[in-house]
Amino acid sequence: MLSPVDYDPKPRHDTVAVNVGGVTVGGGAPVVVQSMTNTDTADIDATVAQVAALYRAGSEIVRITVDRDESAAAVPKIRERLLRLGMDVPLVGDFHYIGHKLLADHPACAEALAKYRINPGNVGFKDKKDKQFAEIVEMAIRHDKPVRIGVNWGSLDQDLLTRLMDENQASGSPLSARQVMHEAIVQSALLSAELAEDIGLSRDKIILSAKVSQVQDLIAVYSMLAGRSNHALHLGLTEAGMGSKGIVASSAAMAYVLQHGIGDTIRVSLTPEPNGDRTREVQVAQEILQVMGFRQFVPVVAACPGCGRTTSTVFQELAQTIQNDLRKNMPVWREKYPGVEGLNVAVMGCIVNGPGESKHANIGISLPGTGETPAAPVFIDGKKAKTLRGDNIAAEFEALVIEYIET
Ligand code: SF4
Repeated sequence: MLSPVDYDPKPRHDTVAVNVGGVTVGGGAPVVVQSMTNTDTADIDATVAQVAALYRAGSEIVRITVDRDESAAAVPKIRERLLRLGMDVPLVGDFHYIGHKLLADHPACAEALAKYRINPGNVGFKDKKDKQFAEIVEMAIRHDKPVRIGVNWGSLDQDLLTRLMDENQASGSPLSARQVMHEAIVQSALLSAELAEDIGLSRDKIILSAKVSQVQDLIAVYSMLAGRSNHALHLGLTEAGMGSKGIVASSAAMAYVLQHGIGDTIRVSLTPEPNGDRTREVQVAQEILQVMGFRQFVPVVAACPGCGRTTSTVFQELAQTIQNDLRKNMPVWREKYPGVEGLNVAVMGCIVNGPGESKHANIGISLPGTGETPAAPVFIDGKKAKTLRGDNIAAEFEALVIEYIET
């Protein structure tokens, strides 16, 4: 007996939309991909080049560090250079400790930025915290900019944490130390948002984030945040780490909360290899959203893992080439061929699953496995369209994929 089971993603958590330099975050808008540069912002050439690379890779918002006068002075020039390149990418200024002063001393920077990111734990020193927080919020009101109040567990407000730990102990310790930390992170974000609203910043100018570095902690704090407010939420696992560990941890954490309708914008914080490609974090963020079916950025290439039925690496190489070509051409194709990002291509290694999988794709090829007739049937829109033979199968299939896109 079959019974219906609801495996669909939960409805999106109802949040207030925030306009970040023309990009809508929250309010049911598609989940936005963002990233952050690691250049010295005072180095205008390097920062423009990296923002441009991140933007071309698909980052819809880019955050840059604004840590001193030289970087604040560089911000309007960076914005201007990007606009001259035709890149109207919203820039977010990341401020710590002296943000209030930098914004006051550099009004052109305050104006050029699309959003200010402040960390309540690092907004100022000790007794000046509230005053400096208020000054930044007032600056945002004056320049009509949104603010991301980004709590980070590495720089959590220690006074708040201590107070909550004392309260927990006084009431018989119903919460574990970890649960107290979750509560402190969430309260820090919500109390800061409340303070910003009391100062006069409207809710459609506030985005919250609460970054932690462990998957289970992220799930806990974002579930709590979503349960207690309707602020737009920026999602990210901080210090996710290098290589596959960072990718797996970010994917596991974000997939869970996104599936529960939580998160309006995401950043995948990967530690790049020395001289590594910074755009990798954008690609991973896009892939998380795409494989979960929330957004489409690039055509999907389905390829089998290969096994003892394939002794050559032809099909892996072909799958890789097709994927690289599709990614490389997307900036042009996206404009020229609307809907191309929804394309599915299959590259399969033998007759066992090859024809079946290829039929499910828009265009697919089933390469011959060991001992099979050296022929590669190509399926287009579910029907066998052609059989490729000989030494040129890869190039001929690539040409067919391009022909499919162009017609
Ligand atoms: Fe192996 Fe063929 Fe399956 Fe690929 S499709 S994994 S080659 S059995």
